[in-house]
Amino acid sequence: MADYDLVVKHTNRQKSIGLRVRPGEVELSCPRWTTQPLIDQVLRDRAQWIKRQLAECASLPVAQKPQPIDGATWLFRGQPHVLRIHIGPRSIEFESGSIHVTLPEHQQTAAHVTRQIEQLFKAKALSQFKERSAYFAKQMSLGTPEIRVRRYRSRWGSCSARGVVTYHWPIIQAPDWVSDYLIVHELSHLVHFDHSPAFWAQVESVMPNWRDARLWLKEQGAPLLLP
Ligand SMILES: [Zn+2]
Repeated sequence: MADYDLVVKHTNRQKSIGLRVRPGEVELSCPRWTTQPLIDQVLRDRAQWIKRQLAECASLPVAQKPQPIDGATWLFRGQPHVLRIHIGPRSIEFESGSIHVTLPEHQQTAAHVTRQIEQLFKAKALSQFKERSAYFAKQMSLGTPEIRVRRYRSRWGSCSARGVVTYHWPIIQAPDWVSDYLIVHELSHLVHFDHSPAFWAQVESVMPNWRDARLWLKEQGAPLLLP
């Protein structure tokens, strides 16, 4: 017996059967004419895949707006890190699984803690984005672009006509496969300045799973956007 909720959506827009897995739920979208025996058949055929996907989403850390308080969890490249706040001369230390922010007593405020983390994450984002951009640019036969990291209000990245690519620093919280998608997205704008089918074809040629990454940003990205 299946240990998930099944949601079946019949649609006219689709010619084949699609499956989408969320925690505890499988959504099956199919053409209007699809019969129940056919649906059962698809679920039987894809049972192993569904099981794997369900296990994967269950173990996925759910993104929440990171809090600048002691004991809070911050994601770094998709991995949860516990924030520890100490009193002392200003410093920040980063190790696998934890971030230690030290601030003098009169600076023990959310704004100061966030600023410390922002500085650290900006530096780490810059080096990772430079390295990955160079890698993907080569794959796409483009010159190495100039990379910057800054704070945006409500976007993850942008690409100027002069070929400078700028990223919003909190994206370093996302798993690498998601930030890789963002890099490929912005690099593809160096070839196509719009979101035309040609643009998406370019993205897909480098990153066939771009839809998953875009979905991740849509579903998990918002709380991470502005710590
Ligand atoms: Zn775009």
